Amino acid sequence: MRVRVVLFTADLRVHDHPPLRAALNASDAVVPLFVRDTGIPATGYLAPNREAFLADCLRDLDAGLRRRGGRLVVRYGDVAEEVAKVVTETDACAVHLAGDVSAYARRREDRLRTALHGIGCEVIVHDAVVTCVPPGAVTPAAKDHFAVFTPYHRQWDRQPVRAVHRAPRAVTVPDGVGSEPLPGRDTVPGVSPALAEGGERAGRARLAAWLRSGIAGYGDRHDDMAGDATSRLSPDLHFGTVSPVEAVHRARAAGGPGAEAFVRQLAWRDFHHQVLAARPAAAHEDYRTRHDRWREEGSAHREIEAWRQGHTGYPVVDAAMRQLRHEGWMHNRARLLTASFLTKTLYVDWRIGARHFLDLLVDGDIANNQMNWQWMAGTGTDSRPNRVLNPVTQGKRYDPDGAYVRRWVPELAGLSGPAAHEPWKLPGRDRAAYDYPEPLLELADGLDRFRRARELR
Ligand code: FAD
Repeated sequence: MRVRVVLFTADLRVHDHPPLRAALNASDAVVPLFVRDTGIPATGYLAPNREAFLADCLRDLDAGLRRRGGRLVVRYGDVAEEVAKVVTETDACAVHLAGDVSAYARRREDRLRTALHGIGCEVIVHDAVVTCVPPGAVTPAAKDHFAVFTPYHRQWDRQPVRAVHRAPRAVTVPDGVGSEPLPGRDTVPGVSPALAEGGERAGRARLAAWLRSGIAGYGDRHDDMAGDATSRLSPDLHFGTVSPVEAVHRARAAGGPGAEAFVRQLAWRDFHHQVLAARPAAAHEDYRTRHDRWREEGSAHREIEAWRQGHTGYPVVDAAMRQLRHEGWMHNRARLLTASFLTKTLYVDWRIGARHFLDLLVDGDIANNQMNWQWMAGTGTDSRPNRVLNPVTQGKRYDPDGAYVRRWVPELAGLSGPAAHEPWKLPGRDRAAYDYPEPLLELADGLDRFRRARELR
């Protein structure tokens, strides 16, 4: 019997899965394998919300495989060692997996090659599984990656997108391959109360609902924080329960300006992946240094903690930080303005903010999180590195009625319109009725400090 192993990583689905398709086409049986890398805690990447969502994904992947006659094999330990054990047990001739960009994923691939070479097993890496256009597929002349989004997007948009693979009808797994029990979400402590459900079934339902009734208005409404008019597909794209290739095809088929705007966001995702693939150190080092001497935990602990807890006295910042804690997710506009507030207004190191986001975000992703933080900190790919988002102006513009603030900051539940964003302007007696902190600092003072630090005047 010819056996191949499919190592699932950030592609926890049976639909549109090139490694699974290729392995099934070339063999009599496959081992769908997921290895819970017990070394991950050392990377600091583990977080309860992603653990819980992952548990849902693995259970649902197992169910999807079982409906096709197969099952998911789960092992715990070092990925290369566990894969090598399964290869030896089943006499598999090849291991298929998706190409990925982080330093961790690259190391995993190298270690797999080394471990499997010795036992005569091939490693086959598939592109366009985790991203739509693989990193390095489009590059500027004589450079290894695009550092600016607009020219990248022009080329990205012209790339042919591979066809979508149908989910397999049948999956045959060799007898006798042992599996550890699947993890369960209930066993994970510290999960956000309103964390979304994970898994391919839930993800595909979100995609279908989005295409049916969300995407048409996306172009106009994506910045409406209270309207919540974005796809919320980021955790599905992060864990691969929805394929980015399939999302692009189906969005384009839906058509209209909303679809174009949505596909452009998927290009942003690929853009950050190709930056990180070319510069893995950008996960923790400035991509373009501005010679910042950031404030750190020691000198700015009180302000950082107020930001983390949503007690800065700037309503839209506080609303966003509380949404993050409650849902493990935050609206994109809110991510932008909270990141600007931390890095530009408080002049705190972007790594501190990125760490907090990674601790809570269910879609927390090294490429998207670190590169977006760098973008907002002005150390990344933004061509206007010194832009500062004013949380009051942003709040009035993207939450004009104050509904987003009222939803997440119950202390201000009685306020609407501009007052929801500037409670300090209320007359003294009215103001006393709200149990809400004074602003942590004057925005002008923060701006002044930032400009001096960056030597802008
Ligand atoms: P939609 O607006 O529906 O967009 C569709 C998809 O496009 C998203 O699911 C996402 O995969 C992709 N996308 C959208 N905007 C971006 C962007 N700016 N960069 C890269 N991809 C994008 N996204 C993550 O997936 N993981 C993160 O850890 C993450 N951290 C961020 C940190 C900061 C400081 C900022 C400013 C943005 C971050 N983003 C991150 C990007 C973006 O905010 C989220 O992808 C988006 O809010 C998710 O909601 P959605 O799925 O409804 O997005």
